[in-house]
Amino acid sequence: MSEESLRLFFALPCPPDQATAICAWRDGQAFDGRPVAEANLHMTLAFLGAQPKERLEALLTMASGIEGTAFDLRLDRLTTIGKGFICLQPSTTPQALSRLVATLAEHLAALGVVLDSRPFLPHLTLARQARSRPSGAAPGFAWHADHFGLYLSTATPGGVRYDALGRWPLAAP
Ligand code: ATP
Ligand code: MG
Repeated sequence: MSEESLRLFFALPCPPDQATAICAWRDGQAFDGRPVAEANLHMTLAFLGAQPKERLEALLTMASGIEGTAFDLRLDRLTTIGKGFICLQPSTTPQALSRLVATLAEHLAALGVVLDSRPFLPHLTLARQARSRPSGAAPGFAWHADHFGLYLSTATPGGVRYDALGRWPLAAP
């Protein structure tokens, strides 16, 4: 990636207490694959990919204008998606989450950001590159999602690092 571009995504960060609980559970499951670092657990809302630095200001302004509603997110399904992503998923997607994702996509399109055409699949990745495909019930980890953020993804020798470039509240319903 050129130094003039930023690898960006909007996400719901997993609160630290929930991340600790989720990782403690995951690490007892003997999943194969590469575990996601505790600090990196998140649910992607929109993956922007490489964006010119000049676009960052407009993205921050756009996000600050989004009027989303807070919701409870309950991740009660263990699934394996794509090429070996072991995930937690919600059995039911809160309407406020679907609306937030749709609103972000609309505003991003208006800024000329083209998103992946695949439909939104709410998931929190626990491990990657797994050869087994575990699935079933999960303990039902839950948190109150009351903000979202814009993250910069940087590849480092120690693994990918995410830095929040902005965070915005979701209003009480
Ligand atoms: P790495 O790619 O170094 O293993 P990563 O996948 O966590 O780490 P990114 O590739 O920057 O880091 O991705 C950031 C987030 O966006 C992750 O949740 C990832 O699953 C998601 N993502 C990446 N590429 C896409 C894509 N093409 N479409 C939708 N989501 C994506
Ligand atoms: Mg990736």
